[in-house]
Amino acid sequence: MPLPHDRIAQLRLELEEHDRRYYVEARPTIGDAEYDALFRELRELEAAHPALITPDSPTQRVGGKATDGFAQVRHAVPMLSLDNLFAKDGLDGLRKWIISVEKLLPGEPLEWLVEPKVDGLAVSLRYEDGRFVTGATRGDGEMGDDITDNLRTIRAIPLHLKDAPAVLEVRGEVYLPIAAFRKICDDMRAAGDEPFANPRNAAAGSLKQLDPATVAKRPLAIILYSPGECSSDLPPTQAAFLAWMAALGFPVPRFQRVCRSAEEVFAAIQELDGVRDSFGFETDGAVIKLNQVALRDRAGYTARFPRWAKAWKYLSEQAETRIRAITVQVGRTGNLTPVAELEPVFLRGSTISRATLHNEDEIRRKDIRIGDAVIIEKAGEVIPAVVRVVLEKRDALAAPFDFLQHIENKCPACGHAPRRDPEFAAWVCENPACPAQKTRRLEYFAKRGALDIEGLGSTVADALVERGIVDDPLDLFTLRLTTLGALNLGTDEEPRTFGEKNAAKVLEGCQRARTMPLARWLHALAITDVGEETAHDLGKYHDTLEAVATSPLLRDVVALDKARADIATLSPRAQINKDKTAMEKTQLATRHAEAIARAEELGARLIASGFAAPSKKADGTAADAVVVVGPSAAAAALAWFASPLGQRTMARLAELGIAPRGGTPAASDSPFSGKTVVLTGTLELMSRNAAQERIRAVGGNVASSVSKKTHYVVAGPGAGSKLEDAQKHGVPVLTEAEFLAMLGSPPLPQKEDGLLL
Ligand SMILES: [Zn+2]
Repeated sequence: MPLPHDRIAQLRLELEEHDRRYYVEARPTIGDAEYDALFRELRELEAAHPALITPDSPTQRVGGKATDGFAQVRHAVPMLSLDNLFAKDGLDGLRKWIISVEKLLPGEPLEWLVEPKVDGLAVSLRYEDGRFVTGATRGDGEMGDDITDNLRTIRAIPLHLKDAPAVLEVRGEVYLPIAAFRKICDDMRAAGDEPFANPRNAAAGSLKQLDPATVAKRPLAIILYSPGECSSDLPPTQAAFLAWMAALGFPVPRFQRVCRSAEEVFAAIQELDGVRDSFGFETDGAVIKLNQVALRDRAGYTARFPRWAKAWKYLSEQAETRIRAITVQVGRTGNLTPVAELEPVFLRGSTISRATLHNEDEIRRKDIRIGDAVIIEKAGEVIPAVVRVVLEKRDALAAPFDFLQHIENKCPACGHAPRRDPEFAAWVCENPACPAQKTRRLEYFAKRGALDIEGLGSTVADALVERGIVDDPLDLFTLRLTTLGALNLGTDEEPRTFGEKNAAKVLEGCQRARTMPLARWLHALAITDVGEETAHDLGKYHDTLEAVATSPLLRDVVALDKARADIATLSPRAQINKDKTAMEKTQLATRHAEAIARAEELGARLIASGFAAPSKKADGTAADAVVVVGPSAAAAALAWFASPLGQRTMARLAELGIAPRGGTPAASDSPFSGKTVVLTGTLELMSRNAAQERIRAVGGNVASSVSKKTHYVVAGPGAGSKLEDAQKHGVPVLTEAEFLAMLGSPPLPQKEDGLLL
């Protein structure tokens, strides 16, 4: 009988070896039952001899305690990000860069290593005397979050290294395999939650969980590819480094190509593009590094990037598939939106089976027909869309698509005859009792950015409306736990109850919603023409809902718009007035002067109240003031509050004791105060919502598109056309780290769904 101490050591070695074979090499040599038996034996021995438990035992992977936030770790060697090369720049762009490095290293025959760029979350692992001691996020490259306990739950990360230097830091990317991502999203949908947008967000959201036990439930994986601090000499090349990493038991990229010219690099990039869909994880490009480590420092660094490595970004991705059917969705305002039901196709890490067709005119313009082979595209945050029809593959019998005939002149949700809105080329169901509209309004009310009621996704909203429990979103505030808990999300034949635990989460969300600021409520009420930005502007300049309902500012904006229209039509010099008599022209001139005076008075009043800015035009007057909220939104807001629905809503809120407060945020010396900021790409350190709130909290505005009026663009990975727009307009572009530094404080720890971007 071996001593407990020896047996424990032996079991640990064996289990680690099996973990490596399973998680790193994907070649297990024992079955699950055998593994479980070894694990159980170790756990029982440790329970009997608690003094022998060490944090690096396989039983302790989930041993860390939940925390309130993460400590900060300084990286011994900064974690750099790479500058990009874009597929559209082609071989020429690649050649130009390689020649520039060759000039820095004259006479050296250069080698390049091409490996996949994993679309995950960058981390650094630190081993001291062969033991995993610290794991951290990239953070701003200098400092990151200490997520050691969370990383320890990743079974592919060895807890011990044999024959390792005294200090070894390795960097890599944590990711969620696509299959696991799909399963998690299915589970979230079933629980009525909004699923993660993509595997990358799922991995980031998981790693920043404050409780390692939750992280352990997510089957995260990792690939290591670069060194940090190392107390011994590094191998001479990137290829040798990766081989050494693999020998130490780390997962490394399987695709590696050593190249000796731009042409070879280009070929390797194309080869990688052809096989990367089979990896089981998402990649968003290729990484090209100077293979010879000793030459890297001689090539040097720019202010932000190494000169000796680049990330190659593949084109935004397209795939060909077929339209099986066209269905019609009913939106929150009754808009009928055609949706292509596709033969499922895999694109950018997810299976696409639907794509929006926007509206009738769009279908006509692209001549899309049921049964057509089509090219679909998914780029960044955008929902998949049909780019074009592959006409060569069209069935000779395919008939042109007739929208109204297709829906038999009926709203697919309620059967009412729709009306065409000529302005937006859309068909609209105007039945106020249409169940689909009620559902969409309810979802909208609860979504992130509105009242953020967790657990109230589309499945739950559907069931609540369908079963007659919720008619108006405000009905949520009188829901009982038992009623909501017993809600049947399935069918009458196959019931599936929502459950009290989930119900309690929704009711807690409702409780929090009661005290949400005015801006969030204005957003949630889904007033036509009042989007998120307008809601925030209204919330900034008004204290209460009543104040918005009777706002003199909004009335002035509407009146100013009317006066400006009058100025244009009353001008005696206007084309429409050219045939008027001299007498009529004199009358016009008087009324024209009155309109100008009225517009100047209104403009001056709006400027004085801060609800408009003076015109920047050289000959601009107060009449040309630039208003904070435009006339159509102002008119729509006033009309909504005056409408029976608005009146009913106000009365109901008063009854429920809900009185959201707004008001101007305190003047701030933040660099973002009074500035307009556009966020694009994926933020890694905080959610988009959190970033927006932070900007608004210091008195800044968040806009959705880049123009001359934009002051800053904050760009994360995956930033697309907005980044180009910023360059075009000369708008300064900030990285997320720079943005945070300018905000002047680190991001607050987020709850998990705060990280959904
Ligand atoms: Zn309808």
